[in-house]
Amino acid sequence: MTRDAAPRPIVFAFNASGAETARRTAAAVGGETAGLAGRVADLDGVFEDAAGAVAEAFRAGRPIFGVCAAGILIRLIAPLLRDKQAEPPVLAVSDDGSSVVPLLGGLAGADVLARTVAAALGGAAAITGAGARRFGLVLETPPAGYVLANPQDAKRVTSDLLAGARARIEGEAPWLRASDLPQDGDGAVLLRVTAEEVPAPADGLLFHPQVLVAAFDRPDMATLEAFDAALARLALAPAALGVALAPEGAPLHHLFVEALIARGVPLRIVEQRLEDGETIHAEPGLRIHHFSAPVAPEDFGRAPGRVTVVGLGPGPRGWLTPDAAAALDRASDLVGYEPYLAMAPERAGQRRHGSDNRVEVERAQAALTLAAQGREVAVVSSGDAGVFGMAAAVMEALEAAPAGWPSVAVEVTPGVSAMQAAAARLGAPLGHDFATISLSDYLKPWEIIAQRLATAAEGDFVIALYNPASKTRREQLVRALDILRARRAPETLVALARSVGRRGEGFTLTTLGELDPELVDMRTLVLIGSSRTRAFARADGKTWLYTPRSYLDDEAGG
Ligand code: SAH
Repeated sequence: MTRDAAPRPIVFAFNASGAETARRTAAAVGGETAGLAGRVADLDGVFEDAAGAVAEAFRAGRPIFGVCAAGILIRLIAPLLRDKQAEPPVLAVSDDGSSVVPLLGGLAGADVLARTVAAALGGAAAITGAGARRFGLVLETPPAGYVLANPQDAKRVTSDLLAGARARIEGEAPWLRASDLPQDGDGAVLLRVTAEEVPAPADGLLFHPQVLVAAFDRPDMATLEAFDAALARLALAPAALGVALAPEGAPLHHLFVEALIARGVPLRIVEQRLEDGETIHAEPGLRIHHFSAPVAPEDFGRAPGRVTVVGLGPGPRGWLTPDAAAALDRASDLVGYEPYLAMAPERAGQRRHGSDNRVEVERAQAALTLAAQGREVAVVSSGDAGVFGMAAAVMEALEAAPAGWPSVAVEVTPGVSAMQAAAARLGAPLGHDFATISLSDYLKPWEIIAQRLATAAEGDFVIALYNPASKTRREQLVRALDILRARRAPETLVALARSVGRRGEGFTLTTLGELDPELVDMRTLVLIGSSRTRAFARADGKTWLYTPRSYLDDEAGG
């Protein structure tokens, strides 16, 4: 579920000579800059691993500029190419700003961005898309405020126009009239611009201007259905709805919010009743306003706040999911335990609210309060936020104040947990039934931990021990081993996975009988095998650990 229309452009500079061009490029498109570590200083951010940084931006759908030779950018992007519809604009800019080359993402507006940047830098845009070059626009991607109703016809119509057909423009669309399209009152290609619900022209395109504003004084599904019915009676196109408004303090029904997201309609929270535009429909709970030109959502009130709980994964950027990366990028505020915040990619203009490790619920409350003020908040955990992480704390805070944060949306993004990462490095120790137990007795009495360890051991589960020990908390692991050793064979395989995916990563393969608790610290995950878990070495020297999927091969004589 993503709500954001436009991820922010990012401009990568690879050399000091391109820093100024990077800044001016970013300024022209409302983006941020990042410089290669050790080479370019004084930009919004730094990157060390160019391939990783570009991949992250690409997956988050952010328009990408590289102030570098086109070839460098092409090589960085090549492994990521798959889906033409989903690719963001990618543009190379020469370090002196004289050339701007859109490489990818013509449908996502790369040509328009190239023209914008070239104009700002006083350079030339090397537009290769024929329609964009000849007509100064891409019919597939109308500017903000207009929606193309029949995108499937855009390619054919563009070809017709390139082949010499003329365009007849009906309705108000200054961007069409000001373009280099061959225009003719009797043209064969009809470009129709109207808020009315009409069929698309057979030989042309239909654009809906977003001139409607719906004020939902009751923001729920029944009112949304009433809106659809009213629009149908008025013979207006649903796509002409530019923004939905809800009053400050009104409880937003989540289905209503999700339906708006699915329709791509931005929601804004307003303090006052809307008096502008012509009121074309009014009933209890709903008013529809018609404006003379497309509306900009930012002109109305404020965005509703949102809390997204994000798992950063155990360490490397490749283990940060694209959804989590997008949530971090769009966030105005990051909330979390200080060292985890330091793991999140830097982004200019973002506020960071670091805290101590043991104040999870206060931290969750603070996040919800920020969101109630309209902030876009990401609450970060390491690994998966739902596994001994912040997601449960956010739920706790939310449940304790059922009506406290009426217009706050809450989302949880899944992440890669330490046990998955450790298992992947080791082979497949979690290939069969397993149990996950935290040895922290900070919020959980030891008796419960002891009982769970005993039960899991008796059940012959593979056991992943989280929070096994810290500098001061050493006793628990020793006691846990006593419990496990009393119930499992001493030759049971055990893996200690330390700082997986981070600096200092290391693995120790041992057995339950020989395990030395001194090797275990708070960055370690302890994986105790089941009676079936096995290890084998290959000729390359690597030892793999896995738990077979089947119990049947014994019977089959294996
Ligand atoms: N939400 C996290 C767990 C947080 S609890 C997740 O899903 O992974 C903190 C414990 O997780 C640590 O004490 C350690 O046992 C484990 N852990 C977290 N990151 C780790 C890593 N990179 N390598 C090994 N263990 C890790």
